[in-house]
Amino acid sequence: MVTPVRKGVKPSEGALAMSKWRFWSKEGQIEEREPNREPSPAVATKARGFTPPPPRTATGLAAEFDMSDPDIARRVTRLQRLEHQVEEAELAAQRDNPWNERAALIDQAIKELDAQLRVPVERIDRNPPPLPDFPLTIVELVPESPSRVVIAANEHRFPFAEEIDWAERGTTVVKGDLLLESDELAALARELKLDLDVTEQLQDALFALATEVRDAALDGRALPGIVSFDQLLATCPVCGDIQLWNGVCLSCVDRKARLARFETERQRLFTERDAILTERANKVEQLPVLRKRYAEAVASLRERA
Ligand SMILES: [Zn+2]
Repeated sequence: MVTPVRKGVKPSEGALAMSKWRFWSKEGQIEEREPNREPSPAVATKARGFTPPPPRTATGLAAEFDMSDPDIARRVTRLQRLEHQVEEAELAAQRDNPWNERAALIDQAIKELDAQLRVPVERIDRNPPPLPDFPLTIVELVPESPSRVVIAANEHRFPFAEEIDWAERGTTVVKGDLLLESDELAALARELKLDLDVTEQLQDALFALATEVRDAALDGRALPGIVSFDQLLATCPVCGDIQLWNGVCLSCVDRKARLARFETERQRLFTERDAILTERANKVEQLPVLRKRYAEAVASLRERA
């Protein structure tokens, strides 16, 4: 079943398209076809070039035949369902039809996503504040679990210890997350009058450094070549925001995640659009067969009655 698209669709248009859509896709619900129940905001439909289906002469089958005969009543019900299918297929065969309208709305949503995907990277240009160039040293390093890394910057100590997940230990070797075990960084940030955001970025940078030191020691790699406190934060070459010493820029991470969501949605819309147009094509293709079956069924019913 087709789900409604909200992105990029004006509420009035979306509501209109959906009500028509539901109206014509409820197979077997004959009573919903009463003409006075069709939503008909004349201005909006004309504006969109929508031509309502030509009024079909009411079959009046139920009136024409003896519905107290169960066999005839069953045949009439079947016939009414078939008639509904013929009507749907006729509607699908028209140039303006709910399927094309839905596809056009989806096209519009795809276009808006395309535009979003083409928006150039917004420059943030927020350089990191001046930081003291305290030399950074690793004063304690226990790579094996439970690992422990203590980074020193002058007299300040930033101890990180592995968070132990007891549920997982004993079965597999897990590199647990390192946690900062003191509020020394908060004290230093107050002293340097750093705002909360920069303080958090510094904590992320120290966490990334401690983790890299631990993992490099475990894997026998060289330790990262970062030597002073002011190198913990840098400027992102892409957006100009603050980035961590290891090149991670949170603004860029967020932007890439958002664009990936847009791309996923875009692919989903293409699939949905194809499904709608295929459904329409199938209905149009069935029209001659349905008409023939309908005519035969009416003739057979008249003969039987
Ligand atoms: Zn960036």
